[in-house]
Amino acid sequence: MVLDFITLAHEERSAWIASLGEQKYRLQQIEEWIFKQGVLDYTQMANLPKPLRDTLAQQSVPVLSAKVVAARTDGGATKLAVELADTQVVEAVIMRYRHGLALCVSTQAGCKMGCAFCATAKGGFARNLSRHEMLAQLLLANAHLRAKGERVTHIVLMGMGEPLDNYEESLAFIRIAVGPLCSISARRISVSTCGLVPGIERLAGEGLPLTLTVSLNAADDELRQSLMPVAKAYPVNVVLAAMHRYAEVTKRRVTIEYVLIKGVNDRERHARELVQKIKGGNFHVNLIPYNPVANSSFESPLPASVRTFQEVLSGEGMAVTVRRGLGTTVQGACGQLRGNLQK
Ligand code: SF4
Repeated sequence: MVLDFITLAHEERSAWIASLGEQKYRLQQIEEWIFKQGVLDYTQMANLPKPLRDTLAQQSVPVLSAKVVAARTDGGATKLAVELADTQVVEAVIMRYRHGLALCVSTQAGCKMGCAFCATAKGGFARNLSRHEMLAQLLLANAHLRAKGERVTHIVLMGMGEPLDNYEESLAFIRIAVGPLCSISARRISVSTCGLVPGIERLAGEGLPLTLTVSLNAADDELRQSLMPVAKAYPVNVVLAAMHRYAEVTKRRVTIEYVLIKGVNDRERHARELVQKIKGGNFHVNLIPYNPVANSSFESPLPASVRTFQEVLSGEGMAVTVRRGLGTTVQGACGQLRGNLQK
């Protein structure tokens, strides 16, 4: 059996270090290197004696079964293309905000959900990621940031894939991320879904104050179904009911994401329909001007349409923001960096 060091429970790691004939404090040193310093190569762990470093490098499993094969920075975003052991490539994106550094983590290689506006959907679905592979994205991002003395402060499960379609592994990763070695507060972790209602309901019962983000994109069922096939299984009212329950149980405000696409869902009447549906909920609306991807007929909305849409919502007293364009010139939309690398 292959030992997955980074996702083992503490006791299992202790047993492993004892099996190498080492003192307990060596485990603490190794954990410090990996989780606090972002050093992922045993041979670089300077306070370990050289024979131990050599033993670890030669006889134990590697810290990670993933590596960064490309990194591109554009303004506030750095995209890391992460190659997994079976050569699948996923994206992890570091986004710099005023409040910290958020890492957008992929939970699947590809996605089954087929959203019409999404670059990942065009590449199809390959497989679910393991908790190890999600944690690897966090550790690799911290290693990337280490030279500047920085580390990831927030996590968004919003990269490639639908986290609630890979529920067990996504949640196991979250539990490791909020644990003592990564110490990221659950309040700083956001789970983004296209609206898988059973997953939303299950998440509400986990006892974690995670931020839930639901990609809505239309208040009208017919329009939403034309953009998101999942909407056929879960109509808007059913999704909204699950969001209300989530907000009530967790006492957390739920974020509604709305990708604005020119001439499709960006008109004033769409904004008014949205107001009618969500008014009174503990929600925050994040408007995302569509970022064009290759082989798509969709276009970015006009700035005036974005402004009007925002004004309609804020005029009704809704909390609304427009996402600023991080990484729009460097393979900006989700799935594009991977798509280009795999060509
Ligand atoms: S938008 Fe999200 S859920 Fe929809 S296809 Fe893309 S990755 Fe999947």
